[in-house]
Amino acid sequence: MIRKIKPNVYKISFQSFGSYVYLLQLENKNIIIDTSSPENAEELISHLHELKLSPTVIDIVILTHNHWDHTGGMDLFPNAKFYASKKDFGENLHDIHTLKIPELKIINTPGHSKGGICILYKDILFSGDTLFHRGTIGRTDLPGSDENEMRKSLEKLSKLKFEILCPGHGIESE
Ligand SMILES: [Zn+2]
Repeated sequence: MIRKIKPNVYKISFQSFGSYVYLLQLENKNIIIDTSSPENAEELISHLHELKLSPTVIDIVILTHNHWDHTGGMDLFPNAKFYASKKDFGENLHDIHTLKIPELKIINTPGHSKGGICILYKDILFSGDTLFHRGTIGRTDLPGSDENEMRKSLEKLSKLKFEILCPGHGIESE
């Protein structure tokens, strides 16, 4: 399913388990945040087609963290530059802090994973698996998780001004 959040921001959700994928059209670039699970690859491609896009025109892929249900579609985008935290992906991808799109503010939010990030765009917060709707939060019982770091990250987020929460998973209605 595709939901238009703003004229240039779309949320793509799937039948099978896997993260949401967000598409942002900014500065003449097609940017996606997270790529969902491998099972959802075909569905992701068909949703992109519905938006008159093919995977080859995706310029930038941002990964909120290194979990399979967010990285499963990484191979779909032959022309994209991939950005994420080094703490989760090492040297394999471009360091998220070298991404030069002034309208996207990157916030380090370790806790669910070591290199978790959130992305603030105007009044929208893309929160990965750090923060979900109704104040629920990501798991901190996984390898790489840290409850203490999570608490600090959530505190950081609580100081941000945003109107729309776009998490990696969760209820569709809000
Ligand atoms: Zn996760």
